[in-house]
Amino acid sequence: MRIFVVMFWAAIAAEIAIRAPINQQRKKQPKPEQHVSLQEKILLGLLFISGFLAPLIYSATSWLNFADYSLPAWAGWLGTTLILLAILVFWRGHADLGLNWSPTLEIRTEHKLITTGIYGVIRHPMYASQWLWVFAQSLLLQNWIAGFFSIAVWMLFYFLRVQAEEKMMLDTFGEEYREYIKRTGAVLPKIG
Ligand code: SAH
Repeated sequence: MRIFVVMFWAAIAAEIAIRAPINQQRKKQPKPEQHVSLQEKILLGLLFISGFLAPLIYSATSWLNFADYSLPAWAGWLGTTLILLAILVFWRGHADLGLNWSPTLEIRTEHKLITTGIYGVIRHPMYASQWLWVFAQSLLLQNWIAGFFSIAVWMLFYFLRVQAEEKMMLDTFGEEYREYIKRTGAVLPKIG
Protein backbone atom coordinates (compact mmCIF):
# COMPACT_ATOMS: atom_id res chain seq x y z
CA MET A 1 0.00 0.00 0.00
CA ARG A 2 1.17 3.48 -0.90
CA ILE A 3 0.85 4.80 2.66
CA PHE A 4 3.56 2.41 3.84
CA VAL A 5 5.90 3.58 1.10
CA VAL A 6 5.30 7.16 2.25
CA MET A 7 5.98 6.05 5.84
CA PHE A 8 9.34 4.62 4.75
CA TRP A 9 10.46 7.87 3.09
CA ALA A 10 9.24 9.94 6.04
CA ALA A 11 11.43 7.74 8.25
CA ILE A 12 14.43 8.26 5.94
CA ALA A 13 13.86 12.04 6.20
CA ALA A 14 13.70 11.77 10.01
CA GLU A 15 17.04 9.92 10.19
CA ILE A 16 18.71 12.40 7.85
CA ALA A 17 17.45 15.24 10.07
CA ILE A 18 18.73 13.51 13.23
CA ARG A 19 22.17 12.93 11.72
CA ALA A 20 22.57 16.33 10.01
CA PRO A 21 23.78 18.37 13.03
CA ILE A 22 26.42 15.75 13.91
CA ASN A 23 27.61 15.67 10.29
CA GLN A 24 27.87 19.47 10.32
CA GLN A 25 29.93 19.45 13.52
CA ARG A 26 32.15 16.65 12.22
CA LYS A 27 33.19 18.83 9.28
CA LYS A 28 34.75 21.32 11.70
CA GLN A 29 36.83 18.64 13.44
CA PRO A 30 40.33 17.49 12.43
CA LYS A 31 40.16 14.30 10.35
CA PRO A 32 41.00 11.29 12.53
CA GLU A 33 42.78 8.10 11.54
CA GLN A 34 40.39 5.85 9.58
CA HIS A 35 40.26 2.11 9.01
CA VAL A 36 38.26 1.66 5.79
CA SER A 37 39.07 -1.67 4.18
CA LEU A 38 37.94 -2.63 0.68
CA GLN A 39 35.53 -5.08 2.31
CA GLU A 40 33.98 -2.22 4.31
CA LYS A 41 33.66 -0.04 1.20
CA ILE A 42 31.86 -2.85 -0.66
CA LEU A 43 29.55 -3.45 2.30
CA LEU A 44 28.77 0.27 2.66
CA GLY A 45 27.99 0.32 -1.08
CA LEU A 46 25.64 -2.64 -0.68
CA LEU A 47 23.96 -0.91 2.26
CA PHE A 48 23.37 2.14 0.09
CA ILE A 49 21.88 0.00 -2.69
CA SER A 50 19.62 -2.06 -0.41
CA GLY A 51 18.70 0.82 1.90
CA PHE A 52 18.23 3.68 -0.54
CA LEU A 53 18.71 2.99 -4.24
CA ALA A 54 16.47 -0.10 -4.51
CA PRO A 55 13.70 1.57 -2.43
CA LEU A 56 13.98 4.65 -4.67
CA ILE A 57 13.63 2.61 -7.88
CA TYR A 58 10.77 0.64 -6.30
CA SER A 59 8.95 3.82 -5.26
CA ALA A 60 9.49 5.81 -8.46
CA THR A 61 9.18 3.16 -11.20
CA SER A 62 7.47 -0.16 -11.90
CA TRP A 63 10.75 -1.91 -12.81
CA LEU A 64 10.83 -4.04 -9.65
CA ASN A 65 7.16 -5.08 -9.74
CA PHE A 66 8.12 -8.63 -10.74
CA ALA A 67 9.64 -9.07 -7.25
CA ASP A 68 6.61 -7.86 -5.26
CA TYR A 69 5.05 -9.81 -2.43
CA SER A 70 1.84 -8.98 -0.68
CA LEU A 71 1.24 -8.94 3.07
CA PRO A 72 -1.93 -8.29 5.08
CA ALA A 73 -2.53 -4.70 6.25
CA TRP A 74 -1.46 -5.43 9.84
CA ALA A 75 2.05 -6.22 8.56
CA GLY A 76 2.36 -2.68 7.20
CA TRP A 77 1.25 -1.24 10.55
CA LEU A 78 3.72 -3.48 12.35
CA GLY A 79 6.37 -2.14 9.99
CA THR A 80 5.30 1.40 10.86
CA THR A 81 5.61 0.67 14.58
CA LEU A 82 9.05 -0.92 14.12
CA ILE A 83 10.36 1.98 12.06
CA LEU A 84 9.15 4.49 14.67
CA LEU A 85 10.97 2.48 17.33
CA ALA A 86 14.05 2.39 15.10
CA ILE A 87 14.01 6.19 14.81
CA LEU A 88 13.63 6.56 18.58
CA VAL A 89 16.64 4.33 19.30
CA PHE A 90 18.62 6.00 16.48
CA TRP A 91 17.91 9.44 17.96
CA ARG A 92 18.85 8.34 21.49
CA GLY A 93 22.07 6.78 20.18
CA HIS A 94 23.08 10.02 18.47
CA ALA A 95 22.16 12.11 21.50
CA ASP A 96 24.42 9.97 23.72
CA LEU A 97 27.31 9.27 21.30
CA GLY A 98 27.53 12.82 19.92
CA LEU A 99 30.70 13.53 18.00
CA ASN A 100 32.07 10.06 18.70
CA TRP A 101 29.74 8.82 15.96
CA SER A 102 31.30 8.02 12.57
CA PRO A 103 30.08 6.22 9.44
CA THR A 104 33.27 4.14 9.22
CA LEU A 105 35.47 2.83 12.02
CA GLU A 106 37.62 5.57 13.48
CA ILE A 107 38.98 6.92 16.75
CA ARG A 108 39.11 10.70 17.17
CA THR A 109 41.98 12.42 18.94
CA GLU A 110 39.57 13.36 21.73
CA HIS A 111 37.56 10.17 21.56
CA LYS A 112 35.65 9.35 24.73
CA LEU A 113 34.28 5.92 25.59
CA ILE A 114 30.57 6.47 26.15
CA THR A 115 29.00 4.06 28.64
CA THR A 116 26.02 6.08 29.82
CA GLY A 117 22.50 6.75 28.54
CA ILE A 118 21.39 4.10 26.08
CA TYR A 119 25.07 3.00 25.88
CA GLY A 120 24.76 1.95 29.53
CA VAL A 121 22.26 -0.71 28.42
CA ILE A 122 23.47 -1.84 24.98
CA ARG A 123 26.80 -1.28 23.22
CA HIS A 124 25.36 -0.86 19.74
CA PRO A 125 22.09 1.09 19.84
CA MET A 126 22.50 2.40 16.29
CA TYR A 127 22.95 -1.13 15.00
CA ALA A 128 19.97 -2.25 17.12
CA SER A 129 18.02 0.53 15.44
CA GLN A 130 19.15 -0.75 12.03
CA TRP A 131 17.93 -4.28 12.88
CA LEU A 132 14.49 -2.83 13.63
CA TRP A 133 14.76 -0.77 10.46
CA VAL A 134 15.45 -3.63 8.03
CA PHE A 135 12.56 -5.73 9.38
CA ALA A 136 10.35 -2.64 9.12
CA GLN A 137 11.60 -2.04 5.56
CA SER A 138 10.64 -5.55 4.47
CA LEU A 139 7.12 -5.00 5.87
CA LEU A 140 6.68 -1.49 4.45
CA LEU A 141 8.20 -2.07 1.00
CA GLN A 142 6.66 -5.39 0.03
CA ASN A 143 9.25 -6.38 -2.52
CA TRP A 144 12.13 -8.89 -2.37
CA ILE A 145 14.67 -6.43 -3.78
CA ALA A 146 13.53 -3.14 -2.21
CA GLY A 147 12.41 -4.67 1.09
CA PHE A 148 13.64 -8.09 2.07
CA PHE A 149 17.12 -7.83 0.51
CA SER A 150 18.03 -5.19 3.12
CA ILE A 151 17.82 -7.82 5.90
CA ALA A 152 20.42 -10.04 4.19
CA VAL A 153 22.79 -7.14 3.53
CA TRP A 154 22.44 -5.81 7.06
CA MET A 155 23.03 -9.24 8.59
CA LEU A 156 26.32 -9.56 6.71
CA PHE A 157 27.38 -5.99 7.51
CA TYR A 158 26.45 -6.27 11.18
CA PHE A 159 28.44 -9.41 11.99
CA LEU A 160 31.58 -8.20 10.21
CA ARG A 161 31.31 -4.63 11.54
CA VAL A 162 30.68 -5.49 15.18
CA GLN A 163 33.66 -7.82 15.27
CA ALA A 164 35.99 -5.19 13.78
CA GLU A 165 34.51 -2.37 15.89
CA GLU A 166 34.82 -4.20 19.19
CA LYS A 167 38.39 -5.20 18.35
CA MET A 168 39.21 -1.53 17.64
CA MET A 169 37.53 -0.42 20.87
CA LEU A 170 39.40 -3.10 22.88
CA ASP A 171 42.71 -2.05 21.30
CA THR A 172 41.98 1.59 22.19
CA PHE A 173 40.26 1.39 25.57
CA GLY A 174 41.52 -2.01 26.83
CA GLU A 175 40.30 -3.01 30.28
CA GLU A 176 37.67 -0.24 30.36
CA TYR A 177 35.95 -1.71 27.28
CA ARG A 178 36.38 -5.29 28.54
CA GLU A 179 34.50 -4.32 31.71
CA TYR A 180 31.89 -2.50 29.62
CA ILE A 181 31.29 -5.68 27.55
CA LYS A 182 30.72 -7.64 30.76
CA ARG A 183 27.84 -5.47 31.90
CA THR A 184 26.06 -4.71 28.59
CA GLY A 185 24.50 -6.61 25.70
CA ALA A 186 25.39 -5.89 22.06
CA VAL A 187 21.96 -4.99 20.67
CA LEU A 188 19.69 -6.47 23.35
CA PRO A 189 19.97 -5.56 27.05
CA LYS A 190 21.80 -8.12 29.16
CA ILE A 191 19.39 -9.98 31.39
CA GLY A 192 20.39 -10.99 34.89
N1 SAH B 1 28.26 0.67 17.37
C1 SAH B 1 27.74 1.89 17.92
C2 SAH B 1 28.33 3.11 17.24
C3 SAH B 1 28.20 3.15 15.75
S1 SAH B 1 29.11 4.50 15.03
C4 SAH B 1 26.23 1.88 17.85
O1 SAH B 1 25.67 0.98 17.21
O2 SAH B 1 25.60 2.74 18.45
C5 SAH B 1 30.71 3.77 14.90
C6 SAH B 1 31.75 4.51 15.69
O3 SAH B 1 31.32 4.65 17.02
C7 SAH B 1 33.08 3.76 15.78
O4 SAH B 1 33.97 4.29 14.84
C8 SAH B 1 33.57 3.96 17.22
O5 SAH B 1 34.65 4.82 17.24
C9 SAH B 1 32.40 4.65 17.90
N2 SAH B 1 31.94 3.98 19.12
C10 SAH B 1 31.30 2.80 19.21
N3 SAH B 1 30.95 2.53 20.50
C11 SAH B 1 31.38 3.58 21.23
C12 SAH B 1 31.34 3.93 22.62
N4 SAH B 1 30.76 3.13 23.51
N5 SAH B 1 31.89 5.10 22.99
C13 SAH B 1 32.47 5.91 22.10
N6 SAH B 1 32.56 5.66 20.79
C14 SAH B 1 32.02 4.51 20.36
